[in-house]
Amino acid sequence: MSEVMQRILALWEIDQSLHKLRGMLSDLRAEEARLLARLEAEDQAWEERKKRHQELRHLANAKALEVDETDDRIRAYQKKLDHDIIPYKEMEYLKEQVEFLRARLEELEEEALGLMDEVEADAERLVEEEKQHQERRRGLEEELERIRARQEKLTAEAEELSGRRQEALAALPQNWREHYERLHETIPDPVAPVENGACGGCHLRISDPLMERVREGREVVICENCSRFLYLGWR
Ligand SMILES: [Zn+2]
Repeated sequence: MSEVMQRILALWEIDQSLHKLRGMLSDLRAEEARLLARLEAEDQAWEERKKRHQELRHLANAKALEVDETDDRIRAYQKKLDHDIIPYKEMEYLKEQVEFLRARLEELEEEALGLMDEVEADAERLVEEEKQHQERRRGLEEELERIRARQEKLTAEAEELSGRRQEALAALPQNWREHYERLHETIPDPVAPVENGACGGCHLRISDPLMERVREGREVVICENCSRFLYLGWR
């Protein structure tokens, strides 16, 4: 094989490695995006959970306030009944109100206690759930870190390979360099082996004189049909 052809093959090898690396980097970026979305969903779910607890707490507080207000009203009515001189009709009305409010107060107190119990039980569950949330979060963060470290490593490798690619390109005669770059822009494989008398790229048979030139390996040979660089394959 000619020296130039060897250089073209070396360049082609670098390009294949670069292509593979870029594919891996793109997969890693997609994985990173998926993890970030999961992290966001995790945080959002936790915020909603805390909000539900706060709502329960507000409900319990409102109920406790209602108990106090009802109690105050009973005391105020009772005070009026005990100390003021009021018309009979109003007195009857106030007595009725006090009776009604006392019954209501009992109900309210029961509801308030029930809610308080619920708040306490939920607060205990919340402590446990926060631990689980933090654990899941840490797991996701660690995975993200691993992926980012891998990205960094592969990016450095790709940069190093790009440098080597520039050198490999510069080592080619200008006409072949331009030919390679033109092919590389339009097809994934600018270099193909000759297999069973056919070009490994376009799979068309190549002429006998061309086959002979590939066999001799004294010069750079390109496919008559697809212009790919040709080298002798195993068969
Ligand atoms: Zn071809």
